[in-house]
Amino acid sequence: MTTQIQIEGLASSQKSLKFTSLFGLSNEQLAVLLESFTQPSYRTRQLWHALYCQRVEALEEIAPFPVQLRQQMAAAGYGIGLPKISQVFTSSDGTERYLIACGDGACVETVETVWMPNGDGGERGDGSNESDGLYGMDGLAESVSQATPAEPYHRATICVSSQVGCAVNCHFCLTAKLGMKRNLTAGEIAGQVVAVLNRHQVRIGRDRINLVFMGMGEPFLNYAAFMEAVRLLVVGVGIPESRMTVSTSGILPGIERFATEPIRPKLALSLNAPNDAVRESIMPITRKWNIDSLLLALRAIPLRPRERVTFEYVLLGGINDRLQDARELAQLVQDSRLHAKVNLIVWNPGPDTPYQMPQEADVAAFQQHLISSGVSAYIRRPRGRDIYAACGQLKRTTA
Ligand code: SAH
Ligand code: SF4
Repeated sequence: MTTQIQIEGLASSQKSLKFTSLFGLSNEQLAVLLESFTQPSYRTRQLWHALYCQRVEALEEIAPFPVQLRQQMAAAGYGIGLPKISQVFTSSDGTERYLIACGDGACVETVETVWMPNGDGGERGDGSNESDGLYGMDGLAESVSQATPAEPYHRATICVSSQVGCAVNCHFCLTAKLGMKRNLTAGEIAGQVVAVLNRHQVRIGRDRINLVFMGMGEPFLNYAAFMEAVRLLVVGVGIPESRMTVSTSGILPGIERFATEPIRPKLALSLNAPNDAVRESIMPITRKWNIDSLLLALRAIPLRPRERVTFEYVLLGGINDRLQDARELAQLVQDSRLHAKVNLIVWNPGPDTPYQMPQEADVAAFQQHLISSGVSAYIRRPRGRDIYAACGQLKRTTA
């Protein structure tokens, strides 16, 4: 059987290849595919369950499928095509950063995904603060092979990428230096999560997993694939949407569309400045969509009970970390009338970036001012800074 059927929504790169990944296909796409193999409709349920609930890695593992069907599918070029972890970097704090290769073998790009055991201090899902020191990064980073057995964990946060590189060009971010390479497909986005869940033998239902879509790239500039990945992860893999947070640099049309989604993660806006002038100097995208327009769009999102919008605020020494900035920020958050919290992120340094880390005392004073003004404020503990795994450090560093 040599027919390569056209499946609506498949990435064009996938269409032209002989190999086609099953992982990433929606229920409807799987149904169309199995129909082309003249299979009854219950096969769709079996395949969906195998791909997303059992998280199989090879066609042979789809137990309910007859051997002949699996052979036919393989002969026609279909395989699971789950992204593969190609390199692992382990931090002294237990964080792991992965370079993950695309599943079809013909894709030369790698994407980055980060595993943070026991949460990341800012996105635990309950909004509490685990901060325990901002500057501790003793110990040497160690690069290990994938063969190293991973400890099973029962609670972790996975940071997921949505693009290879990024086009937004925030001046303080290392990912920006890569430029925009390409959008990831839904399968490549959800596949990062599943590859990491499998590595750590995570059992959904028993283990508490949070997802933050805060890796490489701007999720709202790859909106359709990103949201399809979310649906696969919620409906298929079984991770509750309340344990997912997506961060955007402020893509207005994306926020407006997001407000209408029936299934969606929580939202974080990378505010990073108390006014347009400072924001524009570090995030040129502010010229396109200013803070007021973003706040207006945020107010249109119907929040679920106890849900809060997060304002992320990267503290850059001498740029946006003064008390007067904290005062202006507190005012801005209060005037927004949003049910919101602020996550303060100490800027993670990298080569060739013209910024300085803030002083520890200034960070504490900044947070204190927000809290005493009635604004919830947490300090995000940097994770994996020694292996370039922390916020804004993902640029496929290989040493
Ligand atoms: N593109 C999205 C999500 C990825 S960036 C966004 O910008 O929101 C995730 C977070 O890391 C953002 O809040 C961003 O402001 C922050 N960040 C970027 N570079 C950083 C750096 N060098 N140190 C600390 N945080 C950084
Ligand atoms: Fe892109 Fe986010 Fe980095 Fe800005 S902070 S360049 S939007 S990844």
